[in-house]
Amino acid sequence: MSPSRQIDIVGAGLAGALLATLLARAGWPVRVYERRGDPRAHGDAGGRSINLSLAERGLYALHVAGVAEAVLAQAVMMRGRMVHSKDGSQQLQRYGRDDSEVIWSVSRAELNLVLLRAAEAAGAKLHFDRRLQSVDFDAGRAQFVDDRDGSLHPVQFDLLVGADGAGSALRAAMSKRIDLGERIEPLGHGYKELEIPPTADGDFRIEPNALHIWPRGDYMCIALPNDERTFTVTLFLPNQAGADGDPPGFDQVRTGDDAQALFARDFADALPLVPQLRQDFERNPVGALSTLYLDRWHLGGRAVLLGDAAHAMVPFHGQGMNCAFEDCIALAGHLERCDDFGAAFAAFEAERLPNARAIQAMALENYLEMRARVDDSDFLLQRALEAALAQRHPQRFVPRYAMVTFRRIPYAIARKRGVLQRELLAAFTRGKSSLEEIDLQAVDAAVLERLPVLAHDADKVHGFPPPRE
Ligand SMILES: Cc1cc2nc3c(=O)[nH]c(=O)nc-3n(C[C@H](O)[C@H](O)[C@H](O)COP(=O)(O)OP(=O)(O)OC[C@H]3O[C@@H](n4cnc5c(N)ncnc54)[C@H](O)[C@@H]3O)c2cc1C
Repeated sequence: MSPSRQIDIVGAGLAGALLATLLARAGWPVRVYERRGDPRAHGDAGGRSINLSLAERGLYALHVAGVAEAVLAQAVMMRGRMVHSKDGSQQLQRYGRDDSEVIWSVSRAELNLVLLRAAEAAGAKLHFDRRLQSVDFDAGRAQFVDDRDGSLHPVQFDLLVGADGAGSALRAAMSKRIDLGERIEPLGHGYKELEIPPTADGDFRIEPNALHIWPRGDYMCIALPNDERTFTVTLFLPNQAGADGDPPGFDQVRTGDDAQALFARDFADALPLVPQLRQDFERNPVGALSTLYLDRWHLGGRAVLLGDAAHAMVPFHGQGMNCAFEDCIALAGHLERCDDFGAAFAAFEAERLPNARAIQAMALENYLEMRARVDDSDFLLQRALEAALAQRHPQRFVPRYAMVTFRRIPYAIARKRGVLQRELLAAFTRGKSSLEEIDLQAVDAAVLERLPVLAHDADKVHGFPPPRE
């Protein structure tokens, strides 16, 4: 389609700002409406550091938008997970083969700033303090409110894109017109953000190039490094404690003192790293975690949803943003290729919905793996066999984590192959305690029989530019 008609995007978060950049660069007239104030007005990101892990899919999208280098310049490389056992021992489990297979910790606020600047530089018109309130799809009128003074700002639109996150107002307006098949499944666990500050000399307190995990069965803590040498710590707990407080839950761990006692008992080596534990715990809210399923993402050629507005997921594969960025590339591509908006939105939904479902499922599965399996001996033997097979059959046996994180093959294919691979790993490690006991030739034969050669991404971005330590 030639980029003639106006595109209005609701939400200038991660997906909205990236999509605006891609579409404006392709020549579309783009306007973006964001309910918050302009973060660029403060000159920096401000506030506490919240970070996200960026992987190949997200990095590729940023590369296409021309901002990957600017983002990586502020990112911290994470080579693997540093598992902290209850006895205080630590073990680094690499994510990939070498430093070409790593993930990056990026500041959400800084990333948003880079994307907003890129969107505006590409020609998108950004409107802040504009919260979508209601939509008249027949008349093509959207009502926005400025929450600072309650003033109303009507906008005439051709088509709306909903990049307004998990609580999407556009989704709510679309649901009044058609049944989107919306289902929200709460996880039953929540999260609380804490911080590890730098040392007195301004250095990182623990290994910077890793994602730290304190797995404790039904709950866990993680920590991701920030450019300014802090770590953002996230404590994940059930909302409700089990019988006799085992596992603990946010209903019982309510005050700073409760948190201190929990850390002293279960995360003893992390306790001295979080000197403001009591204050952080009492100041920061408990975040809710759920998965949003929709059967339809668009209303003819009038409106379409992407990112969290279409498929919010739990954060345990670190893919929500990566997936949202992949959506942006896909939608921009369908708009270029299709003859009308209805066809473009339908093709976008057909391509992305099954993949969103697959990564939503894998994100839920990964919670169990992170909190309960990373320090379990069966799991470690399966990981050792997985690494051996990945080396012996690089074209066929790609660990599921690597397919999701370091490749751009569709999530649905990664999930399907992951199931086959897990079956092989479980079958050949059953009753064994070391790699030497496993008949590798029999495993090779099973791999050749069951796993076809995997197509390679021709234009992978990782390793670009050189990693920053
Ligand atoms: C604890 C946690 C950790 C996570 N970690 C990772 C990770 O490591 N890696 C990863 O890839 N993903 C991660 N995610 C997921 C990631 O945060 C989301 O998938 C991503 O932010 C989705 O981007 P989005 O643009 O769709 O939505 P958002 O980032 O939520 O942006 C939506 C924007 O719309 C605006 N808005 C909302 N309502 C309106 C309205 N009515 N009118 C106008 N504007 C509106 C909002 O202010 C916001 O700016 C994590 C999520 C959580 C909760």
